[in-house]
Amino acid sequence: MSVIYTKSVPGRRGVKLPGCDVPVDHEIPENLRRREDAALAELSELDVVRHFTELSRKNFGLDTNFYPLGSCTMKYNPKVMEKIAALEGFSQLHPLLPQLYGGCMLEQGAIAVIFELEKLLCEITGMDAFTTHPMAGAHGELTGMMLIAAYHKDRGNRKTEVLIPDEAHGTNPASAAIAGYEIVTVPTGDNGMLDIDTLSDRLNEKTAAIMLTNPNTLGLFNSQIEKVAAMAHHYDAQLYYDGANLNAILGKFRPGDARFDVMHVNLHKTFATPHGGGGPGAGPVGVKRHLEPFLPISRIRKRTDGTYALDYDYPKSIGYIAPFYGNFAVCLRAYAYILLQGRQGLIDVSEHAVLNANYILASLKEQFHAPYPDRCMHECVLSAVKQLEAGVHAVDIAKALIDYGFHPPTIYFPLIVKEAIMIEPTETENKETLDRFIEAMKKIAYKALDDPQKIKKAPKSTPVGRLDETKAAREMDFNYIDCKP
Ligand SMILES: *Cc1c(COP(=O)(O)O)cnc(C)c1O
Repeated sequence: MSVIYTKSVPGRRGVKLPGCDVPVDHEIPENLRRREDAALAELSELDVVRHFTELSRKNFGLDTNFYPLGSCTMKYNPKVMEKIAALEGFSQLHPLLPQLYGGCMLEQGAIAVIFELEKLLCEITGMDAFTTHPMAGAHGELTGMMLIAAYHKDRGNRKTEVLIPDEAHGTNPASAAIAGYEIVTVPTGDNGMLDIDTLSDRLNEKTAAIMLTNPNTLGLFNSQIEKVAAMAHHYDAQLYYDGANLNAILGKFRPGDARFDVMHVNLHKTFATPHGGGGPGAGPVGVKRHLEPFLPISRIRKRTDGTYALDYDYPKSIGYIAPFYGNFAVCLRAYAYILLQGRQGLIDVSEHAVLNANYILASLKEQFHAPYPDRCMHECVLSAVKQLEAGVHAVDIAKALIDYGFHPPTIYFPLIVKEAIMIEPTETENKETLDRFIEAMKKIAYKALDDPQKIKKAPKSTPVGRLDETKAAREMDFNYIDCKP
């Protein structure tokens, strides 16, 4: 695949413009005018269409193949969600439409969607109130930590530390640090669970919060959570739930019931919305009653006549964290998706997501080292340490998968597993696809020992093979775009 400039032929045109029949404006100062023509590619329209169509076919996405990126929950986004998000009554709204009822009549439908979504999220998670404003999971974490800080300030608590397990997603310590806290790390035991004794040692009067992911980033569910909650609450520390992995627990476990005080949900990892490449997403935050006064404004109030108002009168609120109501189109997809699935549908989602991950774990634990081999939730962690004996790393296995048509799984995360390969199939993949993936992984495991050099040269089927990724990012080659035929 070559860049479009290499296909350029001087004088070739895609469009023919008529001669200029108005006076040419020479107001552009001499020093700002081009000395020579811009180095644009010269091609016919058909050449351009074929070039970009060919490029688009090289795009990898869920619409083309299996994308088992652990922790990212790359589940299929039903196309009907896109139709709903594009409905004119929603997509043509502007949040600054003239105010009627403290929000335009036209806007009432959109506000109703948010209001109802908040209620559904409360029911799904067992929390008392939600805000849909945060624009991503990490933004939700930051919002949650700001709520906790506001709560402690209001109570006159002097708290400086947040406890976070070492397997946590990197955004957890980052969010707590941005909210002004010092991070205290809690190690994970050999069984992949939080080390409760160390947690107990590191918990004290200074602890503002404990941030937990459950199931954790190893794909394991911690059933000692109520004990941790009691320990935290003893010091008036707040228990934060990173709900990015909600796809594993719908209808099975509610963080609110396990006495978590605040949580975020990654709508884009559980309730439709395609993601990858940086967004868009939404990270609504749910809280228990005692944290509700601190939620960001605006909040939605339903009037007695059934209309909705945006309410700004919350003196203890942390204020604005995003304009209006967050990424509305993502919230809309989530609302429609939840209604589409219904109660039983959501339970099925989680059961199938967990079944699929366990099927992969059980099928591959001979060929790959499985540090936690017994049972997983929505994702499973393997390790390439066996293959490492032949010099083959997790990254080599990931690259080799590309030649079989699969997107590589997440690798080298969680950090605490050496040569980690983290696979999250999601519920939307069928058994045939999982079997093809498992077969490819087995072939790669065999080749890794039989002909390691071959694996280290993969991928072979892509326009470019192995890149020096650091060099590619740090020393970008801008020159080629100037190249003339
Ligand atoms: C994805 C993820 C996040 C961050 O969510 P973003 O929407 O990418 O900001 C946080 N925690 C966990 C466990 C995640 O998987």
